[in-house]
Amino acid sequence: MHQDRYKLVIVGAGFAGLGLAYKLKQSGIEDFIILEKADGVGGTWRHNTYPGAECDIASSLYSYSFAPNPGWDFKWSKQPQILSYIESFARDNDILRHVKFGQAVKRADYTDGRWIIKTQDGEVYNCQFFVSAIGQLHHPSVPDFDGKADYKGPSFHSAQWDHSVDLSGQNVAVIGVGASAAQLIPEVAKIAKHLTVYQRSPNWIINKHDRPYSRFEKWLAKKVPVIAKLYRGGLWCQGEYFIWPVIKGAKLRGALVRGLNALEIKAHVKDAEKRTKLKPDYPVGAKRILLSDTYYKAIGRDNVTLETDGIARIQKAGIQTKTSKVHPHDVIIYATGFHTNPFLKEIAVTGEAGTELREHWNEGAFAYLGVTTSGFPNMFMLYGPNTNTGHTSIIYKLEAQFEHILKLIAKAGEGMVSVSKSAEDAYNTEAQEKLSKLAWAKIEASWYKDGARVTNNWHGGSVEFKRRLESPIYEHFTFSHPISDKTAAE
Ligand SMILES: Cc1cc2nc3c(=O)[nH]c(=O)nc-3n(C[C@H](O)[C@H](O)[C@H](O)COP(=O)(O)OP(=O)(O)OC[C@H]3O[C@@H](n4cnc5c(N)ncnc54)[C@H](O)[C@@H]3O)c2cc1C
Repeated sequence: MHQDRYKLVIVGAGFAGLGLAYKLKQSGIEDFIILEKADGVGGTWRHNTYPGAECDIASSLYSYSFAPNPGWDFKWSKQPQILSYIESFARDNDILRHVKFGQAVKRADYTDGRWIIKTQDGEVYNCQFFVSAIGQLHHPSVPDFDGKADYKGPSFHSAQWDHSVDLSGQNVAVIGVGASAAQLIPEVAKIAKHLTVYQRSPNWIINKHDRPYSRFEKWLAKKVPVIAKLYRGGLWCQGEYFIWPVIKGAKLRGALVRGLNALEIKAHVKDAEKRTKLKPDYPVGAKRILLSDTYYKAIGRDNVTLETDGIARIQKAGIQTKTSKVHPHDVIIYATGFHTNPFLKEIAVTGEAGTELREHWNEGAFAYLGVTTSGFPNMFMLYGPNTNTGHTSIIYKLEAQFEHILKLIAKAGEGMVSVSKSAEDAYNTEAQEKLSKLAWAKIEASWYKDGARVTNNWHGGSVEFKRRLESPIYEHFTFSHPISDKTAAE
């Protein structure tokens, strides 16, 4: 069977895959391919097109440090501009020619020192290094409600928005109140005749004070890049010195978030019952603290019902709650988040001695610094286990992972790099011990957790993350070189 051979195969063309591609090219490596199942680049920002979609980390920080954009229109950019940024980045840096679209990867097997990557359509790629850049928030999750299939109207997940459905004047249901829901609910509330929001557990939400940038500010960011850099640094500090301490349990800052949240609810929601329902009953920071200038205004509207009785079943024409109320709906929108575990769920990966990754992770995913896992040589993960965050930009953290991978690739040369089991075990013990003291562990379930373990988030601040990733401890790895290299060295 024909196999295209590469030094690296990267799976996924979102911020992770494209950013690594840029760094590889900068270091003179051109022998790689990016396999992407969609028909374009952008990942999250191609797939999520719901009304109101935007980043919740300010754009100056939620962009590559090596590709600043002085042209952001808003402090928190809208999805079309983020997608356009990443598309231009790929085009302008000659990355597109490395991307092959329509390639859904289903298998990756480590055989005789090489990775064999197989796609759904039977294409096979052979490479020295396999890099997973498939994201954490990619597989829409829709609860299996009783009667779901009986529903006769249109229904779709927020990440698979059906733009052919006109919501104006309709009786709409939104199930879920997480980060995507908080963005789309205000937009739907404006045009729907009636909107019923089905809430399981409310969020801690504070104002973001979004605004468009003036022409002068854009001009300044373009002409005096140092100002743009300082501004980016200021945004980073807000996450690092305000939100991160809240997650660690800082009392005063936590009280401030609770106070701001209460003021917002009071200002925009007049109905006493709705106000009570909006009050979270878990520690601030345990789930992502959401930023919104419009959410409570939307919930406070007369055409919006906040339903908290729980969903018993879905019927032909609406939803029945556990207290037997029946709400008729023309459209149901599932803003119910993503399957975040197990990582790499869609790809069957086998490492040394045929070990299956799913088996290796049967108690939840883990990886040394989120990038490598023992028994799977020459395999790297971007935005892998325990690399997510609740307070800063994923892109900032991806950049540290790029450096880590580049350094390991350079040291491995034509050979093999594998993290030792002892280093990985020690790292996991440290990570889980530290995670158990953070707010994320103080809630029964969230997308950060797989069972009792926090599997998605990093246990420390982003400075420590950067430092540890960018200065690999080479003793934690085994490197082996092909026979010919050894002979040459002797
Ligand atoms: C609505 C939304 C808003 C967000 N806002 C923020 C924010 O403000 N700040 C922040 O830090 N983070 C945010 N995130 C998290 C966001 O996912 C990351 O910031 C970032 O986009 C991750 O990039 P990625 O390249 O790792 O993954 P993705 O963007 O998910 O890209 C993964 C790519 O891999 C492809 N792929 C997946 N499986 C396969 C396969 N088997 N074969 C081939 N290709 C495959 C996908 O099609 C996709 O193109 C948000 C997420 C969502 C869903």
